[in-house]
Amino acid sequence: MKKAIYPGSFDPMTYGHLDVIKRASRMFDELIVSVLDNKAKSPLFSTDERVKILCEATSELKNVRVDQFSGLLVDYCKRQDVHIIIRGLRAITDFEYELQNAQTNRKLSDDDVDTIFLTTSLDYSYLSSSSVKEIAAFNGDLSQFVPEFEIPLIEEKFKKIRNTGNPEG
Ligand code: ADP
Repeated sequence: MKKAIYPGSFDPMTYGHLDVIKRASRMFDELIVSVLDNKAKSPLFSTDERVKILCEATSELKNVRVDQFSGLLVDYCKRQDVHIIIRGLRAITDFEYELQNAQTNRKLSDDDVDTIFLTTSLDYSYLSSSSVKEIAAFNGDLSQFVPEFEIPLIEEKFKKIRNTGNPEG
């Protein structure tokens, strides 16, 4: 069975991420979309909330499983018995960082884990989680960037940030 892992922060998940998920899911028997539980970052959504959002967004894609992980990605790949990582490439600015990560992961795994890049669909080449957060911070219209069900969830977080300075409220 051909399996791959698409890891990321997905904070918040955008149509750009969903596009990569849909395309990768057609290439593999199973695609594991996995949220990095990074305690060092202060995210908008908790790891569990991001998992829930991804589950809802991918509920129609039967070969997609959503999970979370912490620690080294290659160790997680080993635990899942997966040898392929999927990453998206938007522009040349992504390339250097992604190349370094891909090579590091190959070294760390003794050539056991390879990275496959999907280039962005032109419709989403400009789209990033940080721009979605910036637009949301100023009450902008998010409908072209994230699925409809996610919009009130993002707005709620920014309401809490405005009131208490904290997305947890
Ligand atoms: P990171 O995992 O680097 O914290 P993200 O969670 O935003 O960042 O992204 C996860 C993966 O999805 C990365 O490979 C990133 O390049 C890719 N990605 C993000 N936005 C898009 C987009 N609009 N089109 C294609 N790929 C994207």
